[in-house]
Amino acid sequence: MLGSMQDLPLSISSLIEFAARHHHDTEIVSRRVEGDTHRYTYRDAARRSRKVAAAVERLGLGFSDRFATLAWNGYRHLELYFGISGCGRVVHTLNPRLAPEQLVWIANHAEDQALAFDLSFLPLVQAVWRQCKTVRHWIALCDEAALPPASGIDGLRSYEAWIADESDARAWPVFDERSAAALCYTSGTTGNPKGVLYSHRSTLLHAYAGALPDALALSARDSVLPVVPMFHVNGWGIPYGAAMTGAKLVFPGPALDGKSVYELLQSERVTMAAGVPTVWLMLLNHMQQHGLRFDHLKRTVIGGSACPPAMIRSFRDEHGVTVLHAWGMTEMSPIGTVCNLKLAQRDLPAEEQLGVLAKQGRAVFGVDLRIVGPDGQELPWDGQTSGDLQVQGPWIASAYFKGEGGDPLVHTEDGPWFPTGDVGTIDADGFLQITDRSKDVIKSGGEWISSIDIENVAVAHPAIAMAACIALPHPKWDERPLLVAVRKPGAAVTREELLSFYEGKVAKWQVPDDVVFVEAIPLGATGKMQKNKLREQFHGHAMPG
Ligand code: ADP
Repeated sequence: MLGSMQDLPLSISSLIEFAARHHHDTEIVSRRVEGDTHRYTYRDAARRSRKVAAAVERLGLGFSDRFATLAWNGYRHLELYFGISGCGRVVHTLNPRLAPEQLVWIANHAEDQALAFDLSFLPLVQAVWRQCKTVRHWIALCDEAALPPASGIDGLRSYEAWIADESDARAWPVFDERSAAALCYTSGTTGNPKGVLYSHRSTLLHAYAGALPDALALSARDSVLPVVPMFHVNGWGIPYGAAMTGAKLVFPGPALDGKSVYELLQSERVTMAAGVPTVWLMLLNHMQQHGLRFDHLKRTVIGGSACPPAMIRSFRDEHGVTVLHAWGMTEMSPIGTVCNLKLAQRDLPAEEQLGVLAKQGRAVFGVDLRIVGPDGQELPWDGQTSGDLQVQGPWIASAYFKGEGGDPLVHTEDGPWFPTGDVGTIDADGFLQITDRSKDVIKSGGEWISSIDIENVAVAHPAIAMAACIALPHPKWDERPLLVAVRKPGAAVTREELLSFYEGKVAKWQVPDDVVFVEAIPLGATGKMQKNKLREQFHGHAMPG
């Protein structure tokens, strides 16, 4: 016997309609590429999303056809999120920080039919548009008046003119909740990028779980600033979660430097922000230099790569802001774990709490995780034993777009698991700690050195801004760690001083063999340190002794 409840599909359009009805006057504020600040409400966003849906249909795109965006975080990008997915097409967020040839490869692979872009990316689009074989419609995210007169791009039109005459009162189509809604490609640091195709169902379930108190705790009392770009795994689901909960949205546009982010956090009374560690590094440096304080910010989600404990401490002790350390990946929509204390940990001494908060956190309901050994057997949750991390859940990929790379899952007696490529420990309370990506682990004399541990010590040094630890081949030990570090502006520290800083913090054999200071560490398209580039750069580096 089936239950007798209403069988309504979970749909992305329902999010924006809900927000428009129940949070109609809640603001969405965007710093625009044009340089000014734009304000409107969920009611306006819903109206214009409906217009987008009508305009997409008029282009003649088929069901599940891909419509690409090349845009910063802003209200027009939000309308495309809801408008494109809402009418049964797939919003494909391209990452403008990728190399042009990678972009072309991805757009062709996705068979994008249309592409909407912020004017700041006009030169990029001019360089690549002829090579994007399937794209038939080019739309600049601007007013008709701002449309560049001689762009050279065939049929280029302005977004505002494109949607102007469409109806804002139409009903959304109803279709299977498992239909494709959004497409995002993995960074592809090795091999070609692979597409992850989210469904309406997976997106809605992820949004519910992401809003839970022990996840991001989104609410109608929040003003939320996703610094994480909407082209980086759907802005970690925040655009959907904000609509679901009626949180105010604040979009930074292209201005992601410390000063601009700080000003926006203050002026829009932002209570929660989200981004990768490198973004917060810029913000904290700016605040330190100018002796600034937060008046409204309560918590910040940090993920995408390991958040150094020193950063969590700085937010907590100097600014009274709680860091929610989160772990996930493109294949997981992306949320897997978020770090929040349990009841029994609330009275722990501050230092011990920091030890917990520096971990990647506990699984949110919907994600199951386990660590396994080389034989595929599950390993104990003792906080010590590390193994390959596998996950399963309804917002985790079961395949890549177009079946690329074959079946990515590991099939075992207890069902299919997705191998994350991460290595970590899980403690008795269920807190996951990522020790490394399996390809970044340093294997020294049969033991493993966690590159993240070594980097965390380095960035706790007051003179160090950023650090990456990579393995170099070693005739006796197999591999040994090299630390590549960037000094803070105006700060001085020598190789010897930095190495002696490790004393008592890690085992002697884990201390890097050498330190090289560089001006900057190469960052990838999502703000992560590109260790593969460093490995190439320092290939053949002669370690002392
Ligand atoms: P995202 O775009 O969400 O960062 P990617 O698919 O590009 O997702 O990368 C996912 C990988 O990033 C994870 O497999 C993991 O190696 C790393 N990662 C993400 N969050 C963290 C974190 N909090 N700590 C350590 N590594 C992380």
